[in-house]
Amino acid sequence: MDTPFTNALSQLERARVAGALDPLIIDRLSRPDRELTATLRIRTDDGEMRSFTGYRVQHSNLRGPYKGGIRFHPKADMDEVKALALWMTLKTALTDLPLGGGKGGITVDPKILSAAELERLSRAWVRALYRDIGPSIDIPAPDVNTTPQIMSWMVDEYEKLTDDTTHASFTGKPVSDGGSEGRGKATGLGGYIVFDTLREALGVPASARIVIQGMGNVGGEAAHVFARGGHRVIAMSDSRSGIYDPAGLDVARVEAYKKETGSLQGFPGAQPITNEALLTLDTDVLVPAALENQITEDNAHDIKAKVILELANGPTTPAADDILLKKGVTVIPDILANSGGVVVSYLEWEQNLKGEHWSEADVDQKLETVLADQAREVFGRSTALSTDLRRSAYVIALERLAQAIGSESASGPSRS
Ligand code: NAD
Repeated sequence: MDTPFTNALSQLERARVAGALDPLIIDRLSRPDRELTATLRIRTDDGEMRSFTGYRVQHSNLRGPYKGGIRFHPKADMDEVKALALWMTLKTALTDLPLGGGKGGITVDPKILSAAELERLSRAWVRALYRDIGPSIDIPAPDVNTTPQIMSWMVDEYEKLTDDTTHASFTGKPVSDGGSEGRGKATGLGGYIVFDTLREALGVPASARIVIQGMGNVGGEAAHVFARGGHRVIAMSDSRSGIYDPAGLDVARVEAYKKETGSLQGFPGAQPITNEALLTLDTDVLVPAALENQITEDNAHDIKAKVILELANGPTTPAADDILLKKGVTVIPDILANSGGVVVSYLEWEQNLKGEHWSEADVDQKLETVLADQAREVFGRSTALSTDLRRSAYVIALERLAQAIGSESASGPSRS
């Protein structure tokens, strides 16, 4: 069975072939440095004890401290966390940040917890793992269902348990608690910067039709930034339902409606659409911004988008990649398209360590420079290698990691 981790390994192997890279680097990255699992016990509001499983995978610190989000989801498991951690190693290498890759999670449906239970569970994750994380070791951040508030609880718990007062142990915190300006919107905005840099080269019109799956932190922000950029968002969805209007949705109204009613169902003037049907709509750009394995060999033949901008991690399987390549659909891969989050997380970490606070304009400018340069480099390398953008992005990342392995062998044993 294809799992996120087997898919990630297969992507690595394809890039090795495309870039004629040393198999040793693939061997090294095929196993995480460490896989940590902990039982988290909390008291529920009615006084019962409940147990949950928490994870942290430290994939590679070849280029710097482990870095990556924490996901709270009923389907989170070790395989998924390992895949997400490996993708983080590639992402930080691609964006040339002095960081490695890690990821964490808890198998839980946070929607069934009260705010107090969620806080207790978030703090329990830190109590179980605090000895293995920290500003110079491993710096977690938000992912699916984890918010700036959760990061705030986590950093507070970490600081109670250690001497650290830098606030640099977690990123994605609220601005009022040491977070960076621009972090909340960074992944959606970063995706747009990458898209906009490559748009003309990919033959996408200046006013394109956009379909977005998932409207959380990433998909919601992407919808706004695409609309501001003069594009037409024609469909959006969340885990329960979707809406479609070929004339274009008013993104701000959709968001306000969802906030008020808790759902997209019944949004005035739009047709209801399932998540499956949404993926195969006639559109210029499809933006998966929810979970892995959404575009597979089962639906790739039916995709009508010209470009897929992967804001989710791992939304397209390798088998689907093959089908899309043959159909002439360009996939802008996750490790490039959604790297805005980790770029601004890095800036947040740097601000915390230096005791500084930078303006939003300053942060946005830095983000724009890193991602536009990176998008051009990935595109240029794909042309030079006559390969797709995923293989090209992986080759660049793997070359940087191979260099780090080279300097590691020159200077002595591994840090992990
Ligand atoms: P989030 O929890 O804020 O939002 C997730 C959204 O996806 C919600 O709207 C949810 O309803 C929807 N969703 C869940 N299952 C779905 C399904 N089966 N079909 C359609 N929609 C579904 O999470 P997020 O932070 O926006 O993360 C979304 C994706 O982006 C994930 O793959 C995550 O790993 C990736 N990502 C996030 C960041 C970040 O900074 N938060 C950075 C890089 C990548």
